[in-house]
Amino acid sequence: MADDCLFCSVVAGEVPATRLREDDDTLVFADIDPQAPVHVLVIPKRHSRDIAELAADAADSAAVLRAVAAYVRDQGLTDYRVVFNTGAGVGQTVFHVHAHVLAGRPMTWPPG
Ligand code: AMP
Ligand code: ZN
Repeated sequence: MADDCLFCSVVAGEVPATRLREDDDTLVFADIDPQAPVHVLVIPKRHSRDIAELAADAADSAAVLRAVAAYVRDQGLTDYRVVFNTGAGVGQTVFHVHAHVLAGRPMTWPPG
């Protein structure tokens, strides 16, 4: 667990969250400020700050993608967007890597 990391505190149960799916390595929980009818965050339980750091851990990388796939499968979602904001310049505000999974409304491309 990293010091002063909000999502490490979510994993530890110190910060309340709507936990939707969980295994030994990953957690899926509801985004507190949803931007679509479906908006969840998928995180590795072990701290990585961003996708580059996550990529150095092959097991956690695969676990996060599997958790995304399992969540959308269980929800019956076929059309969804997966976003890893990486760097403050594009809007990363929590530096514990997380996949946003968004669905349930039309989405434009390119993203804003
Ligand atoms: P990002 O801006 O890509 O780093 O995404 C951080 C996301 O975390 C935002 O969509 C926030 O709404 C969400 N968020 C922040 N605090 C919490 C929390 N306590 N529980 C759930 N989601 C949160
Ligand atoms: Zn963390």
